[in-house]
Parts: sequence; C-alpha cells; structure tokens
Amino acid sequence: MEVDKKNKIFQPKKKKSKCPTCKKISKESFSPFCSKKCANLDLMKWLCDEHQIIID
Ligand SMILES: [Zn+2]
Repeated sequence: MEVDKKNKIFQPKKKKSKCPTCKKISKESFSPFCSKKCANLDLMKWLCDEHQIIID
C-alpha cells in the first residue's frame, strides 16, 4: 500500500503545448515555441501590432 501512496505523489508531466507560430510541438528550451525563429517571429508580430497602436 505504501507504493500506491508514492504513486499518488508523482506529479503529472507538463502538457505538451503547440508552437503558436507554426503549430508544431513546442520545445521546452524555446517554450512555448518550437524554435528561436518562431519565438522571434511572434515577438516581431507582437511588436508590430504594438507599434501600430502607438502610431494610430
Ligand atoms: Zn514554431
């Protein structure tokens, strides 16, 4: 029965998330993106949106 208790303590693995840029499975080192390229693309997109709001 002690084994069962230990199993309950075991924490669930992190959910695999998808890269918001290309919808591929994200890598932990670039989370939530799959690569640095996708992270940069999203950042650029975000900055562009922000910039447009400021101009407007
Ligand atoms: Zn990606």
